[in-house]
Formats: sequence, structure tokens, C-alpha cells
Amino acid sequence: MANILVVGSYVVDLMSRTPHMPSPGETVLGGPFHMGPGGKGGNQAVAAARLGSRVTMLTKVGHDVFGDEALKNFTTENIDTTHVTRHPDEVTGTALIAVDDQRENMIVVAPGACGKITKEDIVKAEQSFKDADIVLVQLETSMEAVETTINLANKLGKPIILNPAPYQDVSQDLLEKIDYITPNETEASLLSGVKVMDEASAREASIKLKEQGVHTVLITLGKTGCFVYDGTSEGGIVPAFSVNVVDTTGAGDAFNGAFATFIANGLSLQEAVTRANAVAALAVTKVGTAPAMPFAEEVEKFLA
Ligand code: ADP
Repeated sequence: MANILVVGSYVVDLMSRTPHMPSPGETVLGGPFHMGPGGKGGNQAVAAARLGSRVTMLTKVGHDVFGDEALKNFTTENIDTTHVTRHPDEVTGTALIAVDDQRENMIVVAPGACGKITKEDIVKAEQSFKDADIVLVQLETSMEAVETTINLANKLGKPIILNPAPYQDVSQDLLEKIDYITPNETEASLLSGVKVMDEASAREASIKLKEQGVHTVLITLGKTGCFVYDGTSEGGIVPAFSVNVVDTTGAGDAFNGAFATFIANGLSLQEAVTRANAVAALAVTKVGTAPAMPFAEEVEKFLA
């Protein structure tokens, strides 16, 4: 099984259902309430680990109960915590999530400690970069952390997946070092300047991103699937699986952790995306983000 290094965020998800989204100044009586591990980096690490990858997580948490929980959770998920450090003053990151009866969500992320990952934290993990088959990074930490990660992985010749979420501007210099970029429709639109809403616009956006130097473009399109383009053909959509949707938060994270696992294990691009779509489909049938990630056996059963 592949070694995957995930550099990214860890936050605690504090999720409450609400009959409707509160307006400014309004208090709504809602519930039930769920609390659990989250953050794009942590979620993607759990997705990959549950599929059998050997995952090392690089993130930062606070000296608080949420930080203690983070370390416990990673250990339970068989994730190597050597590079999960603790900030002396900052609190562990949190995400306040409200989900209404239409299943729409509103989220406020306070990155806390994981927003303070420094260049030094990354450089200290050089051995883990060397041991990794692939490096997976998102944009939920500081740009300094993202840039250092991409530059170090590139120097060591390690393939890089950038999940450009949440959107931040990424320089051309960095895009040229990316092997796989995995934006959703919104992020692809912002990165390329082309409004992505169907296959034709996804193709146009992919061509623009490829021109900026990215090797392979994977635009996730929610229940439609994923548009794949590597410049060797005109590209196309690998369709999603039809499932009973319960909660789509974390779909992109399931996709990314799974894609990293399958591509690092040597599957073809088409096969890795098909299987990542299956993992993400299973994740949306359950409530929550990290706790909703399926295990390898569930995926095998689903695809059988
Ligand atoms: P994000 O969560 O980052 O916005 P998407 O909504 O594009 O990402 O979803 C990522 C992947 O999850 C999709 O490419 C697809 O494979 C899967 N997915 C998302 N929503 C559904 C759905 N309703 N049914 C089946 N699969 C889904």
C-alpha cells in the first residue's frame, strides 16, 4: 500500500441542524448537534487511511481538549502523528456548520493553530516527504505552508496533488509544479476565469489550467462526477454513482483522499477517478465529514 503525506488543516466540526438559516441578529432553535473531527487535511487523511494507505499527517493543533481529541482521532485512524505539532498559544481550529432542512449548509472556519503552520514545520518533515509516494495538499492553511510543501515535494521529485480548496490565488510558478489539481466547479471557475457549469465549460477551464502549467486537471462536478483532462485527448466526464444522499459535506475530501490512494497504487487515471467517485458516493450517504469516510471493504462491496 502507498505512503501518503497530507499537509493541511485539522479543525473540529461543530454541526447543528436548523429549520432555517438564521438572518443577521436572529437566534434559531435548532438541533440535533454533532461534534467530530474535520478540516480538509484531516478528512482527506482519514479517507486515504481507511482505504489502507499509510498516511502521515502534517498539521498543527492547540494545547486544548480539541487538540487532545485530534491526536486521539488520528491514532485511532492509524494515521502517523509525528508531524502533528501543538501551537503554544493558538486554539485548535473549529468549523461552525449549520445545515438547514433543504440540506443547504453555511460554514465558518476558524483555522486557529492550523493556520500557523510555518515553513520550518514543513522543512522538519523532510524525511516524511522522502518516504512518501505522493503528497496531498489543500489551501486551508497559510500560503507559506502550501508553497513550502509544493517546492519541497517538487525538489524531491514527489508527485503532488493540489486540492485548491477553499479558493486562494495560486501563482503560475506553483501551478507548474502540480501533477494533479482537483478543484470543484466553483474553484475551477475562479482559477481559470471560465464559469464551469457543464462538460463543455469544464473542458474550456481545464485547457486554461493546463496552459498555466498543471499536468492533469480533475474538476469535480458533484453528482455529475468528475471531468478529467491531461491533454492527451479532449478529456471527458467520469460519471458519479447514484446513491441516497444524506449529507454532501466532505464529498470533495473523500474524493481527494481516495484519488491519492488509487493513483499512488498505480491505477490508471480513469480507474483511479472511477474508484474515487465510488468512495465519495459512499461518503455522501452518511452524516459528517471524517466519520463518513468508507473503509476499503465497503468500497469493494459497493463496486462488486
Ligand atoms: P466538493 O465537496 O469539494 O464541493 P463535489 O461536490 O464536486 O466536491 O463532489 C466531489 C465528488 O463527490 C464528485 O466528483 C462525486 O464523485 C462525489 N459526489 C458529490 N456529490 C454527489 C452526489 N450527490 N451523488 C454521488 N456522488 C457525489
